[in-house]
Amino acid sequence: MKNTKTATTLMALTVVGSLIFSSCTKAEPTYTPTETVEETTTATTTVEETEETTYETTKEMPHIFFSTNYEEITLDGNPDSHFVTTDYCYLESEKYFLLMEAGLDLPGDFALNVDMIIDELEKELGMELMNPDYDYSLAGIIDNSIYYGGFNPWFDWKLGTKLPIFLMVDTDFEGWVSCGDGEMACIVDYGLYSDDGWNAAIPNSPYDIERPGYIDYSTIAHELTHSITDRCHDMNSIMTEGIASYMERHIIDVLADQSPAFATVRDNRYLYDYGIVEAVNADNSERLFIESYEEDGGPQGCAEYVHGRYFCQFLLEQYGEGFLVKYMNEIKTFTFENNYGFFTAEEKAYFAEAMKNAFGEDIFTRFGDWCVENNVLQDVDGIFPMPE
Ligand SMILES: [Zn+2]
Repeated sequence: MKNTKTATTLMALTVVGSLIFSSCTKAEPTYTPTETVEETTTATTTVEETEETTYETTKEMPHIFFSTNYEEITLDGNPDSHFVTTDYCYLESEKYFLLMEAGLDLPGDFALNVDMIIDELEKELGMELMNPDYDYSLAGIIDNSIYYGGFNPWFDWKLGTKLPIFLMVDTDFEGWVSCGDGEMACIVDYGLYSDDGWNAAIPNSPYDIERPGYIDYSTIAHELTHSITDRCHDMNSIMTEGIASYMERHIIDVLADQSPAFATVRDNRYLYDYGIVEAVNADNSERLFIESYEEDGGPQGCAEYVHGRYFCQFLLEQYGEGFLVKYMNEIKTFTFENNYGFFTAEEKAYFAEAMKNAFGEDIFTRFGDWCVENNVLQDVDGIFPMPE
């Protein structure tokens, strides 16, 4: 899910609930500002125009700063070892911070696996998470007190160009779902809950939920795709959820041979297609792209995920791994309003025009024909194969 601040789209097979502000139930921990970390990073970019001429652009990058005295943890890399959180704590990695609360159980290879996901995503997307061109002026920790009973444990944290990744325990079972954008990623995964976290949350569940025996790294790949692409440019729903839905499967396939944690996800995941509004063909393909299912998301309310996934698969087959960068280069010259995920009619049309500029006037008719030929996006109710 893309975090649009007002996101209402819900992923199927995910518990649906409402986010509720509740009174502060956690005492603010005492802190001593002794662990203040402050550093200035200067990014230097050298751009080679020709073999003879080079020039440098230098700009000041945002600082890392925080005053709260939480424990900094490290993981030993061993998949069989565990770190169980009993209070707020954090882990700093090269490109992100994990921001944690009590009730989590991290395997020793968790950060290594997240590193592998980010490295593979950056390679395949042709983009960097710590994009030096991104506007980091809002790069304080976003106020996530809604998740912490009204208390914001990370109130003065600024992480520079590193991404805050919140690992959450939905203790009151309010139906939180994972989300991600350029400012942060929130991961809610029952496979990361410690015994205490699970025992605190599950009695509050209105659903009969089995505890999973593994961490769903495909969701983490999905949300981190949002973080990387969103730090490059906004896209419409079909492209935003499409590329994330494509990568959540593809990254697991690529990494399954490199780490048992990914192989476990591959062997246990349940692949299906969400329902759509109408069968996609050469006549309606462009209109559906422009509408991007913002009015009607189909039977499960998630048509943009499956439509976008096949559209990205089509573009990848036709144009190779650089297709998204090519498209981004078209749209980044267009100035969009700060609309938190809702686009004007002009902007919606522009997303389609840019697609034609990048890949040809007939890109949408070709995609519609490809859908019919391959018998994808033809079943309005979606395809939900029975698990083997
Ligand atoms: Zn998403």
